[in-house]
Amino acid sequence: MTNRRPIVAGNWKMNGLRGSKAEIEALIAALSARPANACDVVIAPPFTLVADFSSTCASSPVEIAGQDCSALAPGAHTGDVAASMLADAGATAVIVGHSERRQDHRETDEDVNAKALAAYEAGLTTIICVGETEPERDRGATLDVVNGQLAGSLPDSADSSNTVVAYEPVWAIGTGRTPTADDVAKVHATMRETLVARFGDEVGNGFRLLYGGSVKPANAAELMGVADVDGALVGGASLKAVDFDGIIDAYR
Ligand code: PEP
Repeated sequence: MTNRRPIVAGNWKMNGLRGSKAEIEALIAALSARPANACDVVIAPPFTLVADFSSTCASSPVEIAGQDCSALAPGAHTGDVAASMLADAGATAVIVGHSERRQDHRETDEDVNAKALAAYEAGLTTIICVGETEPERDRGATLDVVNGQLAGSLPDSADSSNTVVAYEPVWAIGTGRTPTADDVAKVHATMRETLVARFGDEVGNGFRLLYGGSVKPANAAELMGVADVDGALVGGASLKAVDFDGIIDAYR
């Protein structure tokens, strides 16, 4: 039986100024006021805040992640941020392949795979996102799309020590809509089978599989209670400490 420690990760997207550190301090205070968490807690602020938030969180249970990284080594690539720079700024993790990157920047599975390899090289835990769009769901292609993204986005060297997978149906992100618990269970069971088929029993069963898409304090316990859901990737509800802490409550 595999013992997977859950993760609740917050993706701040393009939100947050230096003053937003108050939310991080409030989150740390809320976490320290309770018994030790039964889950890992990660916040991915914009690049501009990674170093400052990393210092603030240094002796707390909160880890800091980047929202993306370049697949390239440092050099002449204007506007890009190397994985090694994130690690140097204090991040311990990075999100790659978020649907907003896939859509807004036309990132392909191949790109995501290369970014994951760069993140491994920098020693970052890599949260690789997959998920179907609404038209793909409507034509019954969810499992094929997710399996295709898993096949293309995860490097062969992925394992549970360097990779976490986040299933985020694109139509559920920021919309207040979520799949049913049964639908989430179906996708996560399929992802697990696919990972076991590719990486073998031990490695495949070790990957933590997060659900993301309109997770809120009110629905977290139900979604986190689904078989093979090992935590959440949270957007909007991670911006306020009180909401994010309410989601972490699913693991108290
Ligand atoms: C996300 O963008 O990763 C996300 C899950 O957003 P939200 O929780 O706001 O739907």
